[in-house]
Amino acid sequence: MSPPFRHLWQNWTLGAAEAAARRASDRLRAHAWPAPLPEVLARLREGGHAALIVGGSVRDALLGRSPKGLADVATDLHPDAVATRFSHVAPTGLRHGTVTIITDVGAIECTTFRREGAYSDARRPDRVEFTADPLEDLARRDLTVNAMAWDPDLGTLLDPFDGALDLEQRTLRAVGEPLDRFREDALRPLRVARFTATLAMEPDAALRAALASLAVEGSGYAAEAVAVERVFAEIAALLTAREPSRGFEVLREARLLERWLPELARCRGVPQNRFHAYDVYFHSLYTCDAAPAEKPAVRWAALLHDVGKPDTRVEKHGEGTFYNHQFVGAAMAGRLLDRLRAPAALRDDVVHLVREHMFDYRREWSDAALRRWLRRVGPEHVADLFDLRIADMLGNGLKQGFPAYLDAMRRRIDALLAAEHALEVTDLAVDGRDVMRELAIPPGPAVREALEALLEEVLDDPVRNRREHLLERLRTRAAPASGA
Ligand code: ATP
Ligand code: MG
Repeated sequence: MSPPFRHLWQNWTLGAAEAAARRASDRLRAHAWPAPLPEVLARLREGGHAALIVGGSVRDALLGRSPKGLADVATDLHPDAVATRFSHVAPTGLRHGTVTIITDVGAIECTTFRREGAYSDARRPDRVEFTADPLEDLARRDLTVNAMAWDPDLGTLLDPFDGALDLEQRTLRAVGEPLDRFREDALRPLRVARFTATLAMEPDAALRAALASLAVEGSGYAAEAVAVERVFAEIAALLTAREPSRGFEVLREARLLERWLPELARCRGVPQNRFHAYDVYFHSLYTCDAAPAEKPAVRWAALLHDVGKPDTRVEKHGEGTFYNHQFVGAAMAGRLLDRLRAPAALRDDVVHLVREHMFDYRREWSDAALRRWLRRVGPEHVADLFDLRIADMLGNGLKQGFPAYLDAMRRRIDALLAAEHALEVTDLAVDGRDVMRELAIPPGPAVREALEALLEEVLDDPVRNRREHLLERLRTRAAPASGA
């Protein structure tokens, strides 16, 4: 029977969920698991123990996605016993029963089957109880698509919550009562937002209703229980999706956007002008979608490039203008990323991109003007800035295609860089020692100022970057009453 008919036949004879689980089993049987996995599972099984592939690993194998780590496995073996069976382990979350088994090709997360006690801090169960029953372990997991376990030896799939069917239908559904699960662990709505985007799936009606009710006074949801580092990690993961906008919309529905990214939330409803089809908020989301997924700094910058607009908006002739929003926005983006404890290098790159995103290149720019721009922006940021510009254009919903002026600008930049003209004081034919000697001044800020002044001249005309000429310039500057 050809696949579509087999599909229909199975659904009809078995019930949709069971049929989906069979199809999932077929795929998992054929799946090429990473090499050390069978060996690790066999070692865990010694003495009659259970060892299964679980959670994200099963889900990603079925979706044909490459998983984050090598694999997630679960066992009834106590964590201490797991640790003694392997020569290289890291006690990642020993208290919660997770041991990281380190192999030559990557890490395998091994978690002991557990059921969870009450949560009084809205983040971590008060105590962890281990169990021998894999079904109990699956019941504590957040979403049905994350609550499947595969036994590669027996070729059996444990799918007590019909995750295989949800996966086929691209539905995110909570294991159990969604609002209860959110109250237990406040991270979960952020995971739902992340998976909505990264897996390109839709929360089902019950999950959506629970998300919407989080914002309601007295919902019992403790948003503040999530550490900002975890918030940052979830948003960073969300930003690797093809369309992060889907996840941010989930956060907005749950009123979590205004908690964690208020600068972005307040862009909602801020109207722009005839160059834009969307308000500032949707323009930001679509710019983010259009930015390269493998460049986190550009994705963040795309998301935040216009956060300065609400505060700088001035209505002129019935249209919005936003003078200096890039500077206001850069400062806001910096504060936002500091608040989320983003890595400093990422923060600095994002702030820089937001600040510089408004460059207005014209053919008439002189080489000197282009060199000055390159010096300020830094040649290493040009590619990111171009990516941001293209995304910004696509994100306004009115234009398509690659802007020709960027091509022309790129060609001129390449030519300027190939000529190796000075862009930094360190590229000058003289250095600080020359300045101190010729001007007879001690080390200090004046040395740097003198070099900067020389650089300005050289940026205007690169031919001036000759040692004799620059020394001469310093001497005329040193000479008293040398005129203006
Ligand atoms: P990825 O590794 O791609 O980020 P994942 O689903 O594997 O996604 P992990 O954090 O690796 O996420 O967790 C592994 C599994 O543990 C999940 O698939 C899920 O079954 C369970 N899990 C993780 N975090 C939670 C949580 N906060 N609440 C309930 N179950 C969770
Ligand atoms: Mg995982």
